[in-house]
Amino acid sequence: MSATPGRATPGHAAPGHVAVVGAGMAGLSTAWFLQQRGVRVTVLDRTGVAAGSSWGNAGMLNPAFTVPLPEPSVLRYGLRSLFDRTSPVSIPPAVDRQLWAFLLAFTRNCTAARWRRAMAVFNEFNRTCLAAYEQLVESGVAAPVTRADPLVIACRDRHDQQHVLDEFAHIRACGGDEAEFDTVSGDELRALEPVLSAEVRTGIRVHGQRFINPPAFMRTLADAVRDGGGEIVEDHAVARVLDRGADGVELIPVSPGKETVRADAAVLAGGAWLNGLARPFGVRARVQAGRGYSFTVRPRDMPVHPIYLPGQRLACTPLGDRFRITGTMEFRAPDAPLDPRRIRTIVASARPMFSGVDWNDRHEEWVGSRPCTPDGLPLVGRTRSPRVHVSGGHGMWGMVLGPLTGRMLADSILGEGDAHPLLRHLDPLR
Ligand SMILES: Cc1cc2nc3c(=O)[nH]c(=O)nc-3n(C[C@H](O)[C@H](O)[C@H](O)COP(=O)(O)OP(=O)(O)OC[C@H]3O[C@@H](n4cnc5c(N)ncnc54)[C@H](O)[C@@H]3O)c2cc1C
Repeated sequence: MSATPGRATPGHAAPGHVAVVGAGMAGLSTAWFLQQRGVRVTVLDRTGVAAGSSWGNAGMLNPAFTVPLPEPSVLRYGLRSLFDRTSPVSIPPAVDRQLWAFLLAFTRNCTAARWRRAMAVFNEFNRTCLAAYEQLVESGVAAPVTRADPLVIACRDRHDQQHVLDEFAHIRACGGDEAEFDTVSGDELRALEPVLSAEVRTGIRVHGQRFINPPAFMRTLADAVRDGGGEIVEDHAVARVLDRGADGVELIPVSPGKETVRADAAVLAGGAWLNGLARPFGVRARVQAGRGYSFTVRPRDMPVHPIYLPGQRLACTPLGDRFRITGTMEFRAPDAPLDPRRIRTIVASARPMFSGVDWNDRHEEWVGSRPCTPDGLPLVGRTRSPRVHVSGGHGMWGMVLGPLTGRMLADSILGEGDAHPLLRHLDPLR
């Protein structure tokens, strides 16, 4: 008999000790919310806290335009990338079998009808994702969640601006809340952010959004888990998870020198590396690395608002005294080395849009893997085993949605999944 997705199976006691694989946003948020409910947690990471995508991302918490990745225009970009090295979406010329399978499934979801269906689900999450952040912060995760008042969308021309306005209209048509925004001229945006160059001729101010400094936030979240009595074990790669029935789960390390960890239940939150551990538990949806790059610069006029450049597909965020520039979507293996050409591509598209930036003085060059699913929806909930759960596949939106889905998964593991009918859309067994 198959159990209802997103629900603890009736007859199974709530676990007292949960092992979480992956110390990124998905794993640490789930661990934190479990711990808040009195569960002992052990978080294992093959490298360390925020060693994956949760470190170098843009940190934008922007429910006004948190949307599913598979859409018709992404497909057009993808096709163009086969011929154009400077495209923001990159598919390697040599595609392996697994990547083909992902791209085929992804392509099938790049229709307007499927986008609308996924968007209707995102709209529900977008309504409450910031409240989950508030709960984290109010209950002791002492990292700032800054109001982006406003979040700046900077466009070279009306075409780029219209693209975003159309997207807002599509979101609303799928039942989304009215985004609070106003359209403005390039000069008005420069008055707000002098770092923007004369190439920015028009744009949008979006209100009510937030942003974080991802490395600082993740450090603080990890500290909060430790302060609550949780254990975070770094440099501990998990090779396999074994379901021992009434005896719980065993997490077998890659390295024979490390300990096998035993717990009542496991949460698999391994980001773009999720497939290997989750597949034996019936999770067939492939999580593919959608690699993005970032670096920081120090502009003469340091921005105070997050800035999104839709025409260039770049998201840029002030992090203290440095400005982080992020972009590209490269479908390659998560452990492939950083490709300096992708950084140069980002510099070439960002350079005309900003002034007073020394683009040679770049720091913290980074590549990380967005865990992308073919249908653009995360995978959150229990697997075929009532003791093994998944939290991942958030793609472009793991920072904004991670705490909310972490809270939902914690509820579900503790048998309170009925409160979240939405989790059925994220069923990892779909
Ligand atoms: C350039 C860029 C910009 C982005 N901007 C934003 C943004 O503005 N807003 C937003 O919401 N999202 C953004 N994202 C997406 C966001 O970063 C991801 O969705 C999110 O970080 C995914 O979190 P995760 O915990 O699932 O994965 P990760 O952060 O990748 O964490 C997975 C962890 O699991 C560990 N691990 C893997 N396998 C094992 C194993 N077998 N044993 C032990 N440990 C293991 C890894 O070491 C890693 O630490 C961006 C991403 C990129 C690349």
